[in-house]
Amino acid sequence: VKEKGKGHFRFYRSDMNEAFPNYILMESHLRKAIDMNEFVMHYQPQVHLKTGKIKTFEALLRWQNRKFGNVPPGQFIPLAEETGLIIPIGEWVIHSVCQQLANWREKGHQDIRIAVNISPKQFLQSNLPEVIQQALIENQLPASSLEIEITEGAMEDTRAALSMLQRLKELGVIISVDDFGTGYSSLNYLKSFPIDILKIDQSFVREIQINEKDAAITKTIIHLAHNLGMEVIAEGVEEKDQVQFLVSVECQKAQGYYFSRPVTAEEIEQKVLYA
Ligand code: C2E
Ligand code: CA
Ligand code: CA
Ligand code: CA
Repeated sequence: VKEKGKGHFRFYRSDMNEAFPNYILMESHLRKAIDMNEFVMHYQPQVHLKTGKIKTFEALLRWQNRKFGNVPPGQFIPLAEETGLIIPIGEWVIHSVCQQLANWREKGHQDIRIAVNISPKQFLQSNLPEVIQQALIENQLPASSLEIEITEGAMEDTRAALSMLQRLKELGVIISVDDFGTGYSSLNYLKSFPIDILKIDQSFVREIQINEKDAAITKTIIHLAHNLGMEVIAEGVEEKDQVQFLVSVECQKAQGYYFSRPVTAEEIEQKVLYA
């Protein structure tokens, strides 16, 4: 067991009660999950609203453990962050996604891009650009086939974030801000950070048809993105009238259960690539 630091202890103390799973036991399983082949990536299509075309997917990690069953990322990602396991897990995700991209390119799908979630701790690892570059080279991929999703929380240390984003941008990967508008609430970084895409959080999209404020916020984010030369994606789209609203305010792309849940690579091939 590496570095049993203070952080661990605090985590267990504050989060461990009857309602929560046994995080100490879960950590020991999580530690072995890569070697045990317990991870699999699922992919959720992002739909271009004007054309209906699907060229981009968000990669979402799934953990199937023999003791805990199907553990939701909302549970094991925070545990992985807290224990530092997010570093090897995050590298596994990057390699797995790059292998999938190479596989689809070999099958003739050259113009596909996959977005990978990068957690704040992973984002602050100074070798992240090298890890990504290595995976791109190994799989002979153009950097533009990979997208990096970071949250506003990862950008709180603005100097570190700016220099990391510049290094990633130099590599050529696409950069998007996940859950836009829910975190670190300064618009200042939009000015100086090399951001390509804003993802409108599902909390704004959910009541878009009935809540005027959510509708106004969504419209404003779309205008903001466009005026800054950025692309925009609405997340968590579940209903047809949400799609209609998004089309009417010229949102470029949307992602959500209305179109598809996150599914396996095989299902993407069957239902999207060869549909
Ligand atoms: P996120 O990045 O904001 O991902 C969107 C979440 O919303 C996903 O949950 C997705 O399955 C779900 N979702 C998609 N469409 C809809 C919809 O129409 N309605 C609703 N209600 N939900 C929808 P998931 O897969 O459980 O992931 C939860 C969070 O775990 C992610 O939030 C992300 O923060 C984290 N995560 C997942 N995979 C990874 C990963 O590979 N690396 C890292 N660092 N974090 C990950
Ligand atoms: Ca995301
Ligand atoms: Ca999100
Ligand atoms: Ca989220």
